[in-house]
Amino acid sequence: MTLAPGPSASGLVPCPACARPLSPAATSCPECGHPMRAAATATPCHACAAPATTRCQGCGTFSCAQHLQRIYVWHGKGGANELRCATCFASAEASKRWSVVLGVIAVTVVLIVMLWIFTSAKQRKAEAPDRPWPTYPLPPK
Ligand SMILES: [Zn+2]
Ligand SMILES: [Zn+2]
Ligand SMILES: [Zn+2]
Repeated sequence: MTLAPGPSASGLVPCPACARPLSPAATSCPECGHPMRAAATATPCHACAAPATTRCQGCGTFSCAQHLQRIYVWHGKGGANELRCATCFASAEASKRWSVVLGVIAVTVVLIVMLWIFTSAKQRKAEAPDRPWPTYPLPPK
């Protein structure tokens, strides 16, 4: 009698060590104890059933390569390209949009202040015209 390893009709997979048919969900072979590494260590992607190959750099959630998006994020000083899950990508994009809005507000405030300083200086000049520079006698040679 010969044991023929190979996929059976019931969808079982043979144990790589002893060829005993195993359920694909089994974490180890009950016959020889061989660990079914694919099932035991692979964490599924947060968005699909594919095994995770990477992690979100925002929250650390496991993900496949397709379900992470690259985004440039700022960390106070300087920034970096990070792979983010959909949630972290959305929040990073929202904070990016906020920083743009805040930047526009800051520029506007600076322009208004500069305009105000310029006009008030002009006004002061009109009220009190420039006095000639005081002249000092030259020191004797
Ligand atoms: Zn086995
Ligand atoms: Zn995925
Ligand atoms: Zn995340």
